[in-house]
Amino acid sequence: MKGFTTKAIHVGEEPKKMQYGDVVSPIHLSTTFAKESIEEVESGYVYSRSANPTRDNLEKKLAALENAKYALAFSSGLAAETTILLSLLKKGEHVIAFDDLYGGTKRLFNRVMMRFGIGFTYVDLRDLDLFRKAIREESRMVWIETPTNPLMKLADIKAISELAHEHDLIVVVDNTFASPYFQQPLTLGADIVVHSVTKYLGGHSDVVGGAVMVSDDELHEKMRFHQNAVGAILSPFDSWLVMRGVKTLAVRMERHQYNAMKIAEYLENHRMVDKVYYPGLESHPQHELAKRQMKGFGGMLSFELRGGLEEARRFVEALEIFALAESLGGVESLIEIPALMTHASIPREERLKVGIKDSLIRVSVGIEDLEDLIDDLNKGFKHL
Ligand SMILES: *Cc1c(COP(=O)(O)O)cnc(C)c1O
Repeated sequence: MKGFTTKAIHVGEEPKKMQYGDVVSPIHLSTTFAKESIEEVESGYVYSRSANPTRDNLEKKLAALENAKYALAFSSGLAAETTILLSLLKKGEHVIAFDDLYGGTKRLFNRVMMRFGIGFTYVDLRDLDLFRKAIREESRMVWIETPTNPLMKLADIKAISELAHEHDLIVVVDNTFASPYFQQPLTLGADIVVHSVTKYLGGHSDVVGGAVMVSDDELHEKMRFHQNAVGAILSPFDSWLVMRGVKTLAVRMERHQYNAMKIAEYLENHRMVDKVYYPGLESHPQHELAKRQMKGFGGMLSFELRGGLEEARRFVEALEIFALAESLGGVESLIEIPALMTHASIPREERLKVGIKDSLIRVSVGIEDLEDLIDDLNKGFKHL
């Protein structure tokens, strides 16, 4: 088995298999594929919703990154999530999910899937007893996100998978925040990995996409059927962009992490900061688990400014390099206030109960020069 970066660069893009020896995958835009004879009409590529050579190349590459047998590419992370739920669950069945999920995932569960009779129970999966107590007769799946957004809570993928499998539950892990470079849930016992490739896999804030990785033949068969039957596929051009992005995933993640660690330490020592949330810090309550199940701590962190909403607003508006924007995982640094932006739809009371204070600031640390990023943050502190 080759190393991570060798696979990221070469799997799915093999010059010897290309008509002209291309070293990168061509973008196959054709929607349909002509045959020599009637006998052939069912063989090879037929129609691009069902299968497309560029998307196939990307799916091979993505599977290799998570050590999976298969990958499926979708038009967004939420389209990938929808396919998992619709293809593997039916009316009356039940999912146990981490109570600190990405907002869009919660909206999909509560406002779409529930209408079709799928039930959800949200528990703090940091506590295995709470997980055990939530398992019901009709439970079929556990949905993990780790680290979570924006408080960087972790769930123990191995321990949860062991308990889940005793009860025949399918284990799904949203691995968007860590990326396959830092965390490989299938290796830890999970059944399915889902990604918003919009984030680190794409890596350049120029493509919206999603992916599912799986090794079980039967689960794959069901999701592959739905990928075609429902049709939320990734386009050939977007597939090519993700292939291009993924080749530098390892070097980008190393730099994201280097910058994030230094910034986390800088913030932790700043008198205007109350608290920093970053799994790489020894002060993170699950730092030991992070070291055990992750190969690195990623590029996302949050911190609480001393003060309230007004201070947070003044701080982020004073910055020049950190762009005031939602999303994450691109080469450029982004900053946002969850209470006003990504988590504004959650009522204030509820937000405070889960620990998202008004002065909490979330940072997607980019790969710019560290000194420039720190100088920029200093500018923010001077405005307080
Ligand atoms: C962005 C995101 C999603 C949703 O992905 P889209 O590509 O925006 O549909 C799901 N999970 C996490 C953790 C995310 O950050």
